[in-house]
Amino acid sequence: MSEPSIFTRILEGEIPSEIIAETENTFAIRDINPRAPIHLLVIPKTPEYRNVVELAASDPELLAEMVGLANTLAAEHSDGDFRLVFNTGPGGGQSVFHVHAHVLAGGLDEASTGA
Ligand code: 5GP
Repeated sequence: MSEPSIFTRILEGEIPSEIIAETENTFAIRDINPRAPIHLLVIPKTPEYRNVVELAASDPELLAEMVGLANTLAAEHSDGDFRLVFNTGPGGGQSVFHVHAHVLAGGLDEASTGA
């Protein structure tokens, strides 16, 4: 069995990080290395999907739950507008292979993906 992901370890309290919001099947934290004025991560509690392609193919309702939490957080932490980024694969900038959405908001640079 592979090691638990960093996000599973945060969810289980092994690594300190405030859980700023949660739904039945997802939770959110602040990115430790923010690349926008608001930079949050929305993460499924299950580690079973490595990336958004696997998630969308197997559990589109869970993907929709992630988008819903991102929308709620953007309204709570900013003006409601946001950019949602799913880095997919190492070449796409993904470093943690437990699917997560970057929620970027607040004075975004048009040229940059930010995450
Ligand atoms: P990826 O590069 O896989 O798209 O995104 C992983 C994100 O997780 C990165 O933006 C990185 O800054 C964030 N990250 C990595 N380790 C930690 C951590 O221990 N705590 C928090 N809050 N964020 C982390």
